[in-house]
Amino acid sequence: MRIVLFGPPGVGKGTQAELLADRYHLIKFSMGDMLRQEVAVNSSVGRRAEPFLKAGHLVPDNIIFDMVNNFLIEYQNQDILFDGFPRNLNQARTLEQSLAQLSQKIDIALELYLPDQEIIKRLENRRYCPSCGRIYNCLTDPPKIKGVCDECGKKLIKREDDQESVIRRRLEVYEQETRPLTEYYKELNVYKKIDASVTKEQIFKKISEIINGYTDKK
Ligand code: AMP
Repeated sequence: MRIVLFGPPGVGKGTQAELLADRYHLIKFSMGDMLRQEVAVNSSVGRRAEPFLKAGHLVPDNIIFDMVNNFLIEYQNQDILFDGFPRNLNQARTLEQSLAQLSQKIDIALELYLPDQEIIKRLENRRYCPSCGRIYNCLTDPPKIKGVCDECGKKLIKREDDQESVIRRRLEVYEQETRPLTEYYKELNVYKKIDASVTKEQIFKKISEIINGYTDKK
């Protein structure tokens, strides 16, 4: 099974991706996490990608595709959840072609949606653990001890691109580049839209119903 999870920044993709990977034993392909990791270790990919991440722009497709193709081959026999990839039509078409070469396809494309004002409020309050990757929200999902990860006791940090000006840019980029995926996946008959204004448990339940419905039909 190949699932794409997309939606504007701050809508809860990362949280849902964690829950879904766990529940359905999916290998998670999180492009944002992989890029931040490359930046953290100062690799050549990381050095090329860093200015785009900081500015809230998409990293150019040629940098992205090398990472994707290596991943698809390595995990070709496992179920995959794509989180934050594809982010534009070119990436979506190229992914479809790469999968076709392995006799695979995207089975479900899930779009999480939320109004912009709610997104900005969420992102400004988002914190994450640089060690285990767990995501918190100071308002709606705080850690037990302020500023400290429940899982591993590390100090939580705010992502550099979670500042209002960069958030607004990322939302514009979403509208221009990523929103067209809605029509693309509708045409492929795999598109499902999910209201992300409810709790993470309710979102997870809704997505689980969709995945269970798909696997039951097979
Ligand atoms: P995310 O963690 O998914 O919010 O991604 C953070 C940043 O990583 C984005 O603002 C982009 O700069 C970059 N990025 C993530 N996924 C992609 C992608 N599929 N294509 C290009 N850039 C990406």
